[in-house]
Amino acid sequence: MAKYYPTFSCWHQDEVVLFGPEKERDRKLQWFRESGLCPQCYKAKQVAEVERGSEGLPPLSETDKQIQWAEKIRVDVIGYVKNKISKASNTEAQKEGFTKIFLELCDSKTEAKWWIDNRDGHSTMKMLWPEVIRIAKERQLG
Ligand SMILES: [Zn+2]
Repeated sequence: MAKYYPTFSCWHQDEVVLFGPEKERDRKLQWFRESGLCPQCYKAKQVAEVERGSEGLPPLSETDKQIQWAEKIRVDVIGYVKNKISKASNTEAQKEGFTKIFLELCDSKTEAKWWIDNRDGHSTMKMLWPEVIRIAKERQLG
């Protein structure tokens, strides 16, 4: 075992301890000189690689905020439509059927963007209602 103080390819010097046959040590020292990085430069290179890999990815906090907003809109819109249905002059069975179909349609809208684009309860209901009626007729709810 011996201590060496080689100059790395980044031109920094650092202490290294090498073991084994002299031929192996010489090979290692030569590798340090030609392509090895000192511990500080090696660490900096890894940090830079993570930064480069994250380029173009959206910041996570922004996405979380959008999802939270969309979830709030969804709750509001469903509450609005449920209220509308409860006030309609249909039979209780029909109202139950309409609500069920409407919630099924809502389940199929899993994109946060869709809810943000359709955050107005009144226009969302107008948009989805023909579909609700169509499905209700198929199920003979009248
Ligand atoms: Zn270095």
